[in-house]
Amino acid sequence: MPALTIGADVGGTKIATGIVDPAGVVLARRLSHAHAGQPPAVVIAAIQELVSDMLAQSGIASSDLAAVGVGFPGYTHGAMGRVLMSSNLPGWDNYPLRDRLRELLGLPVILDNDCNCAAWGEYRFGAGRGSRYMCYVTFSTGFGAGIVLDGKVYAGATGTAGEVGHTVVDPDGPLCSCGRRGCAMSYACGLAISRMACERVRAGEPTLLRDYCGPSPAHLSGEVVAQAAQQGDRVAREVLTTAGRYFGLGLVTVIQVLNPDRIVIGGGLARIGPLLMDPCLQALREYIHPVILEATRVVPSELWDDAGMIGAAALAWEQVGGGFS
Ligand SMILES: [Zn+2]
Repeated sequence: MPALTIGADVGGTKIATGIVDPAGVVLARRLSHAHAGQPPAVVIAAIQELVSDMLAQSGIASSDLAAVGVGFPGYTHGAMGRVLMSSNLPGWDNYPLRDRLRELLGLPVILDNDCNCAAWGEYRFGAGRGSRYMCYVTFSTGFGAGIVLDGKVYAGATGTAGEVGHTVVDPDGPLCSCGRRGCAMSYACGLAISRMACERVRAGEPTLLRDYCGPSPAHLSGEVVAQAAQQGDRVAREVLTTAGRYFGLGLVTVIQVLNPDRIVIGGGLARIGPLLMDPCLQALREYIHPVILEATRVVPSELWDDAGMIGAAALAWEQVGGGFS
């Protein structure tokens, strides 16, 4: 049987693909920013092109490929192979992504939510190794979780388990990208940090963020806010404190419901570090009983940007009957 699989991590801002061996080693990789957020046909063509490029550059033969795993940011139904909807990417409602890709690539394809893929990557090869009840939580453009219980991804009845970002923490809170109000994610994700920072600039508060954003505060990214916060900017620090605290409140729900032995925190903005994580951990100490919290190890990701891609490849490998070394 061919021994390699392809992992594709379709994100809100990038598409990352890799050819991965059964030990989780990435043998070739390609990244595209150009096609992120585009309609399905464009994204699918991009994945096909990235796969061709990887094969051409690495010298790996297509006959060495056993399957393709795709992680997608939104509600996905793995068994049906469909994207149900994505609040960040328009045009994907009820889209048969698995079958379209299978036709184009001529390989078995599995589809799962990007967080589930990243969770599986961390569980197999990263910071989740050895855990029994693991939850991977991502803090990036969005805020979601992937759950691995007893060595299996727990996806729920329709594949949407772990959407912790859309648990309501403030019924009268800001509008969330899902169209409802007061989800944890309406305070705790890259888009929320951007919105909160923008509001503070528009309110005329003295802040470095005004200089960073020029005439259009709508373009304040999480990274820019983190940069200002690291320079001691009070407004930027307060925005990150709010985001971190609501991130923590989302984790409180995860811990109370699942009682995990490990929480792995990943996603680009988790790299901001203590300015975001200290208020998050403070919220856990305030709202979780010490006995429960003591049994929960909260650790940073080990695979970081590769978690989703490696996890998608590993899920595909397992789906076609491959074992792990
Ligand atoms: Zn929501």
